Amino acid sequence: MNQATGGVRRAVVIGAGFGGLALAIRLQRAGVQTTLLEKRDKPGGRAYVYHDRGFTFDAGPTVITDPPALEELFSGASKRMADYVELLPVSPFYRLCWEDGYSFDYVNDQAQLDRQIHALNPRDVAGYQRFLAYSRAVYEEGYVKLGTVPFLSFRSMIGVAPQLAKLQAWRNVYSMVAKFVENDRLRQALSFHSLLVGGNPFETSSIYALIHALERQGGVWFPRGGTGALVQGMVRLFEDLGGRLELNAEVARIELEAGRAKAVITGDGRRFDTDAVASNADVVNTYKQLLGHEERGRDEAKRLSGKRFSMSLFVIHFGLKRRHEHLQHHTVCFGPRYRELIDEIFKRETLADDFSLYLHAPCVTDPSLAPEGCASHYVLAPVPHLGTADIDWAEEGPKYRDRIFEYLERHYMPGLRGDLVTHRIFTPQDFRDELNAHLGSAFSLEPILTQSAWFRPHNRDDVIPNLYIVGAGTHPGAGVPGVVGSAKATAGLMLEDFMLKGQAG
Ligand SMILES: Cc1cc2nc3c(=O)[nH]c(=O)nc-3n(C[C@H](O)[C@H](O)[C@H](O)COP(=O)(O)OP(=O)(O)OC[C@H]3O[C@@H](n4cnc5c(N)ncnc54)[C@H](O)[C@@H]3O)c2cc1C
Repeated sequence: MNQATGGVRRAVVIGAGFGGLALAIRLQRAGVQTTLLEKRDKPGGRAYVYHDRGFTFDAGPTVITDPPALEELFSGASKRMADYVELLPVSPFYRLCWEDGYSFDYVNDQAQLDRQIHALNPRDVAGYQRFLAYSRAVYEEGYVKLGTVPFLSFRSMIGVAPQLAKLQAWRNVYSMVAKFVENDRLRQALSFHSLLVGGNPFETSSIYALIHALERQGGVWFPRGGTGALVQGMVRLFEDLGGRLELNAEVARIELEAGRAKAVITGDGRRFDTDAVASNADVVNTYKQLLGHEERGRDEAKRLSGKRFSMSLFVIHFGLKRRHEHLQHHTVCFGPRYRELIDEIFKRETLADDFSLYLHAPCVTDPSLAPEGCASHYVLAPVPHLGTADIDWAEEGPKYRDRIFEYLERHYMPGLRGDLVTHRIFTPQDFRDELNAHLGSAFSLEPILTQSAWFRPHNRDDVIPNLYIVGAGTHPGAGVPGVVGSAKATAGLMLEDFMLKGQAG
């Protein structure tokens, strides 16, 4: 209990990504006086927003799934999410395109899906049904039951081993999909999802096939005003509850006293005394930089540096003076190679000559994100992280951008460069420098079975009893539903440790 605050518990959360924000809300609404410290000038982390010449560009997440997990943050505080942010349905969920002009609309309508699958391979209609049943089973086990449970002991891992074995979690996503469907395009369409959370479909556990059921179950959504509007809604909720958000507040150090976290110190010398610290900052960075003055920090940073990290991304945000009416909100542009390209993204020291892209066209759902008649976009290419390929992106970035623009012009957006009003790029070096991401990884530790659940950094540090982790680097992992789930797991532990469990945690 704290004397300075008359018995009220205090917590500092480092980093205002989705995970940090969701945790801060859960703590604040349970009566913990919570301060959220964010390095950058805006909250959101990977969900940062750029405003430029009337265009709004969401920097990161655009596919919003599992609205009930977000709703829960508001309803647990006796508020209505609808009073803070409006979620708009997106259909098709994605348009999947190949270079020969073939496209597949991934929709939530079974008859429409069946028609498209039948056209690819009649036998795959039944195979898809079996895949969907499998995906639903892993969704129930891996997401609903275990997605918000902290794995603190090996015993807890042993406890779920029978379910994992039953679901053949040792297999990779692609091989599981291939077991059910024969058509090559369909195999790509049903396996690429793990890339959205940083996983190589040829190596990530088949548990990640759950993303398909997650989308079919809860739909795909987009906040009116962009993903940034959802971030703003969460900030407003946190502040309405009495929480304090400090921007431009980069934490430089976590101070320990008698083995417990006592305070955090910002780079400009401000000190925040606290009863508990939760870090939403990059997990390697947390131990290496913020706790590097302590043995625990150095040991854990060394251990984590030996882990495998997700690939990075190369992102171009661009505003056009006209709209391409034929585009859907989300387009996945498959290149000429699938397995080989992914293999190179995760393992090769240089950039591949070809690419697969994700193209974002949010004005399809919300035209207010660009001036009248114009369109805001981003396009991203998965690329190796800096530990795999130590590329000088200051030199390579503009060339890579030109190659991508040329490709988009040829296959999807004729005349693109002539219509450009503004654009900017975000490279693996920006992930490293702007977000403090280890090796510039876009999604933290790679989600392979041996780096999942108990094998992932724990939601509470094993040695420092009042230090917690939240976000992509801890259980369950990256993606908005993942990090919002991690916040629930971490908040549960913190409130239990504060003995406030049951108070809206
Ligand atoms: C381009 C892109 C597209 C994506 N698309 C999707 C999608 O469509 N759907 C989906 O579900 N997921 C998507 N993801 C994944 C998802 O965005 C992330 O997994 C998730 O947002 C990460 O949240 P987080 O809580 O781990 O924190 P982060 O977003 O990583 O935020 C961490 C915060 O900590 C701050 N910070 C770091 N160090 C310090 C320090 N020392 N002091 C103070 N603050 C610090 C950072 O500035 C940052 O704001 C995408 C990711 C990217 C990069």
